[in-house]
Amino acid sequence: MTQIVRTIAFLSLAWYGLALPAAQQAPAPGAAPQTNKPRPQDTEVWEPAPKVVTPGSTNGVAPADAIVLFDGGNLDQWVTANKEKSPARWVVADGVMTVDKKTGNIETKRSFRNYQLHLEYRIPENVGSFTGQSRGNSGLFLASTGPGDAGYELQILDSYENKTYANGQAGSIYKQSIPLANASKKPGEWQSYDVVWTAPVFNPDGTVKAPAYVTAIHNGVLIQNHFALKGETVYIGAPQYKPFESAPIKLQSHGDPSPPISFRNIWIREL
Ligand code: MG
Repeated sequence: MTQIVRTIAFLSLAWYGLALPAAQQAPAPGAAPQTNKPRPQDTEVWEPAPKVVTPGSTNGVAPADAIVLFDGGNLDQWVTANKEKSPARWVVADGVMTVDKKTGNIETKRSFRNYQLHLEYRIPENVGSFTGQSRGNSGLFLASTGPGDAGYELQILDSYENKTYANGQAGSIYKQSIPLANASKKPGEWQSYDVVWTAPVFNPDGTVKAPAYVTAIHNGVLIQNHFALKGETVYIGAPQYKPFESAPIKLQSHGDPSPPISFRNIWIREL
């Protein structure tokens, strides 16, 4: 009888031990009592796995999923930023597009919402003795919300040893945010912008639900860090938001008298 009781007790204990996961097994005599101890794998997330994107050969080269907006060949992705959206008339030569100040701003045919964008520009070496806002002025409008300079401008300007108001120098969100650094290169050298743009979100009544955000890197240097915009960038007065869903990207043909700047290697990844 005693033998049977012992056998049943042994089997019960054995079953109990097998049935419980390792972490919940009764502690050995004398050991510290075990709790539900967190395990490394408790906080591992395996799905969804990020999509595979084949990067370019260098960080400036378009990754496999980018939309190439200008690769040096033609202006097929661009129109003049007027009512008629007539063909873009800037000059394309030697793999570079150069502003034609007579024909005005150009913008992409496509509209975008949230994105990562890469762009390269060059202030001409012969920019001359022009100063302030009159020296190599252009602009990257992160969303073009209308004709002229309507939208949200990341300033392009020759800010290499060229003083102007800080919230209007290269890398500023025009008249809203001073860049965190002046990373400008000399005229004649190619420079890059890498930008992450989060479009503003509007309520059905047109009020702002969430502002636009911009993070920007100029020649490898962080110049805007998740800056919350106050509205569209304006020359005079206070910024205001105007509801929109998606918008073209616009490049500025500025009316200053200095020789026109050039662009190359522009691509975008929708987010
Ligand atoms: Mg400008």
